[in-house]
Amino acid sequence: MIHLRPKHVLCLVGFNREWYDEKSSSFIESIRTTIDQQTIVKLIVGPDDFCRHCVHRSGDGCGRKVGIGKTLKDRFAKAKHPKSQSDLDQDNTVLTYLGAEPLTPYRFAYIIQTLYRSVQNKSQLESVCGQCQFRDTCTFYTALH
Ligand code: SF4
Repeated sequence: MIHLRPKHVLCLVGFNREWYDEKSSSFIESIRTTIDQQTIVKLIVGPDDFCRHCVHRSGDGCGRKVGIGKTLKDRFAKAKHPKSQSDLDQDNTVLTYLGAEPLTPYRFAYIIQTLYRSVQNKSQLESVCGQCQFRDTCTFYTALH
């Protein structure tokens, strides 16, 4: 089983080794190679398996200014203030495209098939990928029309 933020489903598909240092890249590659169509995915809020060895990880949160929130506690607290919830908004956007519910087990094949059926244009992901520093080297994003 793998736990992923909804947005990170996209990032995992489009991952490029140039984004992170060797240790983080190797870890993410190891996730990619262990996932197959039958792998169970649970979509979560907060640091996920993608974040586990990220150089920006800080405790149970993200050390980046534009990240997943300083701590998990902050993240849930921010949920009460939707205007400051860019990360939650991004996750909610992807959840809507997936028609999925958090913490519900799905096969990876279902998630990916639904994703490609629902999302075909970059404009659909403007709020998710529009400001991403990796979008020009992300194979998921660049493959969209
Ligand atoms: S462009 Fe950025 S946010 Fe969008 S899927 Fe790729 S890595 Fe993730």
